[in-house]
Amino acid sequence: MPPVSEEPAEYRAIYNDTLAARDLRHVWHPCTQMHDHETLPPIPIRRARGVWLEDFDGRRYLDAISSWWTNLFGHTEPRISAAVARQAGELEHVLLAGFTHEPAIKLAETLCRLAPPGLTRCFYADNGSAAIEVALKMAFHYWQNVGKPAKRRFLTLSNSYHGETLGALAVGNVELYKQIYQPLLLDVITVPSPDCYHRAAGESWAAYSTRLFEPMEQALAAHAGELAAVIVEPLVQCAGSMRMYDAAYLRLLREACDRHGVLLIADEIAVGFGRTGTLFACEQAGITPDFLCLSKGLTGGYLPLSAVLTDERIYDAFYAEYSTLRAFLHSHSYTGNALACAAALATLDIFATEPVLERNRTLAAHMARRAAPLADHPHVAEVRQCGMILAIEMVRDKPTRTPYDWRERRGRLLYRHALGHGVLLRPIGEVVYFMPPYVITPDEIDLMVDVAATGIDVACA
Ligand SMILES: *Cc1c(COP(=O)(O)O)cnc(C)c1O
Repeated sequence: MPPVSEEPAEYRAIYNDTLAARDLRHVWHPCTQMHDHETLPPIPIRRARGVWLEDFDGRRYLDAISSWWTNLFGHTEPRISAAVARQAGELEHVLLAGFTHEPAIKLAETLCRLAPPGLTRCFYADNGSAAIEVALKMAFHYWQNVGKPAKRRFLTLSNSYHGETLGALAVGNVELYKQIYQPLLLDVITVPSPDCYHRAAGESWAAYSTRLFEPMEQALAAHAGELAAVIVEPLVQCAGSMRMYDAAYLRLLREACDRHGVLLIADEIAVGFGRTGTLFACEQAGITPDFLCLSKGLTGGYLPLSAVLTDERIYDAFYAEYSTLRAFLHSHSYTGNALACAAALATLDIFATEPVLERNRTLAAHMARRAAPLADHPHVAEVRQCGMILAIEMVRDKPTRTPYDWRERRGRLLYRHALGHGVLLRPIGEVVYFMPPYVITPDEIDLMVDVAATGIDVACA
């Protein structure tokens, strides 16, 4: 916990407000209707430690959503900070074309060792959306290189999210982010998500997800000749309201993709690095995708970096004399940035030296116990959980699961309530969720759940 600020309270409050006002003169914020800041200005954060953010007014906020799912071991984690500082004194960055450096090499070695078996090649980019672009382009280009140019389309699940750049947006399916840009986007094939929120009463997750594989099988059979790849978020559709499904679906998908000759892209940008209980979500299905996209937690929440892991078959299809023009010429200026790689190595070192996944099981069980009573709330349709992700879905009418009118912005009421009580919760629509850093304590979980519970009462009033 950070110490309380030294300056007089009046001064701190004024400074907080001054920064917010300066911000609004020039900064255009992501995923924000800037008009909303007329009633709720942005909160300037002065410093952070562990799960706590502190503003200039000395107020503290428990970061229950890991700063957009990036942070794993708390803010200003001493070992990661030291690794970045050390690296900054040696080499901050060098282009990764024609040159290399030890952090990039070591990180590729480590990721290939930890990833599902068979993934032996690591292509770097600098954010999640860029990793998705890389995987889409590589999959398309692979089929060009092996003489199957008709295989150029992508198949995705409803309610999926893969990022905001045009290619990533096209293969995603969250209407709010996508609809206005539709004229600019690739034409993709979409099949229903195995999202278990829609399962019948008494039906198991496995049974429902297996039943929902039928439309996927049909689409693969119908379109195999024109499909380059299927893209999925294994187990949890995070931006799609934290909807979850069973690993059985992924096993069926891997088998069907092989049978129909279609590549499989696993987007573990949000679910990777322990969020679902295993280091990678694909492990729970015992599958290896053709492309594994990683970012967010990769650097422990310190620096932007992403990686696409793939196998020898894909790599070999690009490997030839220059004059064949088969090379993958995609690049980003900051590809494989040395500071970001150092942060990632320090993060993975914590997994290697501490029983992180085991500790998380205890924390996840505590979270489950504390949140369970919320299932009885008259406006809660479901409490669902996958490892360190727990979501609570609020609805207008519980028996019919009729959602609230989005214009009522009830999630925003909860957001404001929680901030007032020292917790950063950022509901997606009417779904409030916890995805805390792994260093959260049981007491902090209690605070987080209690504030969410009173927030749900306020939001549903
Ligand atoms: C966040 C996210 C992305 C996009 O990553 P950015 O770094 O925000 O571009 C892609 N896929 C999933 C599943 C994500 O959660």
